Amino acid sequence: MRILILLAIGLLLYIIITNLLRKSRSDSRKPAANSERMVRCEHCGLHIVEKEALQDNRQYFCSNEHLEAHRQS
Ligand SMILES: [Zn+2]
Repeated sequence: MRILILLAIGLLLYIIITNLLRKSRSDSRKPAANSERMVRCEHCGLHIVEKEALQDNRQYFCSNEHLEAHRQS
């Protein structure tokens, strides 16, 4: 008898979770991709989040030192 109750609860949870996943997948596809866009430092090749990177002349850098070093070379 206990097994039947557990099976019923499991089935219910499965239905709820798949419904939630389907909903969140169609809702939050765009914002997640935009906020965490990765760019590459032109000097050392390190990958950083775009909003934390320094930008100069369409190129990205991980730090001010690398920006300066790339300008001088
Ligand atoms: Zn760098």
